[in-house]
Amino acid sequence: MGEIHDLHCTKCGYGIKANTGIGMLYSPENVFKDKQFLLDLVDDTKIADQTMDLLTKGYEINEDYGHAIYACPNDFYLFDKFYFQLKGSSKFEPQYPCPYCQTTLKRLTFAKGSPRATRLRFVKEPEKYWHCPKCGNDELNEMAFGNWD
Ligand SMILES: [Zn+2]
Ligand SMILES: [Zn+2]
Repeated sequence: MGEIHDLHCTKCGYGIKANTGIGMLYSPENVFKDKQFLLDLVDDTKIADQTMDLLTKGYEINEDYGHAIYACPNDFYLFDKFYFQLKGSSKFEPQYPCPYCQTTLKRLTFAKGSPRATRLRFVKEPEKYWHCPKCGNDELNEMAFGNWD
């Protein structure tokens, strides 16, 4: 079961409504055996083709795949993208370009903000916090929280 996050900047309201995690139908058999299913999730033929190719070469899927919140490390716009990783002779992760500036989007994780507010930081750069692309503020309100399947 996945989570629904409805996050908005506490100052200007910029935000994202994102489903994270995986749904009931997202078993590895469904997601990674059928190219169409994967293609719907990644919305990129090149990524889907490359993934199918690596799987036939014996690459293995990580366990924590699912929808995740991404941001552009350059302009900080937020996106909801499908994350996974394949391991074989090397590692493979889908790379999504920012539609505004083409920089590769990076995954975000939740960090502590002030009471009743949340912050986001980049998974691979613990010191780098997200800030709002519209106003520069770095805190978000969670407007609604729920589950999806
Ligand atoms: Zn803002
Ligand atoms: Zn960008």
